Amino acid sequence: MPGGASAEPALHQPANVGDAKNAATRYHDDGGYGRDIDAVTKAAGRWIARRAGEVARPAMVFDIDDTALSNWQVIEDDDYGRIIGGPCPALPERACGWAAWDLRAGTPAIVQTLALYREAKRLGIAVFFITGRGESQRGATVRNLAATGFGGYDGLAMVPRGAHFASAADFKAPQRAAIEAKGFRIIANIGDQPSDLAGGHAERRFLLPNPFYRIP
Ligand SMILES: [Mg+2]
Repeated sequence: MPGGASAEPALHQPANVGDAKNAATRYHDDGGYGRDIDAVTKAAGRWIARRAGEVARPAMVFDIDDTALSNWQVIEDDDYGRIIGGPCPALPERACGWAAWDLRAGTPAIVQTLALYREAKRLGIAVFFITGRGESQRGATVRNLAATGFGGYDGLAMVPRGAHFASAADFKAPQRAAIEAKGFRIIANIGDQPSDLAGGHAERRFLLPNPFYRIP
């Protein structure tokens, strides 16, 4: 080789997934995740407190998974795998299918979002959930929301049986339009995925952190 120079070929690989998992776990465990949730929910709280009294029928939209309810346990137990099917044994450090996890109806609240939700209700804001969960999970989802303190909502929109959307936004944005068509003004929409927020039909959008998975 001329000059003895090493000839390491230039690679074009993206970020290492293992490094990304380690960084995401550190972010969760060192409190950064919680602090970022604090920051976003507090910003949303300031906005709705200011805006609620200025519109006739204010409404707020909440996503469910990793917005209202925390899936951290299954994320960690599955080492960031997001396999929908399969059982979810009630044991830690065992692979757990996400659909079965949802049906256990034991997903804990994200406490900052619960505080925001309660504040919205106290302010007289109508509260709506729009989720990518399917209608087949309605019973478990209703029980889970009730058990964690998310009661008294004005609507819970779930993906109809057999429906499939390339992006969650293709389901969620028309659902927000339907809320507006009932005469509400959506002053805030909060979710953990950009696809929760894309497509308009909300005055302000609040994106919670989620480096753990992506919903297109
Ligand atoms: Mg979500």
